[in-house]
Amino acid sequence: MNNYTPEALIITAGAGMSAESGLSPLWEKENLHSFFQPAKNKNIDFTELGQPKWFLTDPGFAWGFYGKRALIYSEAKPHDGYHNLLNWGKSLPLGCSVITSNVDGLFKKTDDTINLEEVHGSAFYVQCTRNCHKSIWKLNLSEIELLKTGEASKYPRCSKCGHAARPNILMFNDHNWNPERANQQRKKLNNWISSLKGKNVLILEIGAGTRVPTIKLTSLGLQNKLKAKMIIVNPIKEVAPSTESFHIQSNTIDGINELLSIV
Ligand SMILES: [Zn+2]
Repeated sequence: MNNYTPEALIITAGAGMSAESGLSPLWEKENLHSFFQPAKNKNIDFTELGQPKWFLTDPGFAWGFYGKRALIYSEAKPHDGYHNLLNWGKSLPLGCSVITSNVDGLFKKTDDTINLEEVHGSAFYVQCTRNCHKSIWKLNLSEIELLKTGEASKYPRCSKCGHAARPNILMFNDHNWNPERANQQRKKLNNWISSLKGKNVLILEIGAGTRVPTIKLTSLGLQNKLKAKMIIVNPIKEVAPSTESFHIQSNTIDGINELLSIV
């Protein structure tokens, strides 16, 4: 990366980015069950719980999980890494954009003006579970009430059909996900990306996992398309995918500080 001056920054971020803001990933069954007791009672894992069918069959159960997450996300504060990174990115001649699989809204909370694509949607937007009309609207947190059991006694409903609403989050086996909001974000981002051909672009991939490799595949695709350099910040030892890639084996905040000290 010596003598390389990026003109634009694309941040691609997975769950590791949020972990140091107190939002622990829920992939491990033990973590999931201590976070949401009703999942323990049913002895189900994250891929089973994260399916839209629960909003049809048992919306109080489904909203217990997604409602708790939305309430916690709304209280979470972006760590310094978010602020430092976006400040640096915005100071570059061609600016920066963010692509994230996180649904917690922390990038938007850090800077509402940032060009952002939330590829898996957002916990702060909802749609009809049956997608009976094509609207996506903002979640009103006061419409959620959680019981001591962990399930929800009150949750948002579709104003047209009266059935439970659901978060506009891409779930597993999800045939009713309304991608309109994510598509609009992507369109705006793609316009910017198409203006970057021939420029010095740095892709910064942070905290991306391999279980659902959306972010890793996105980073690689963009690197090939733009012939960009890539820096990967991840605490797990991994092989950099090309000679144009550089791996900082570190947690998120330290990794971002290290990056900012060398660019
Ligand atoms: Zn409806």
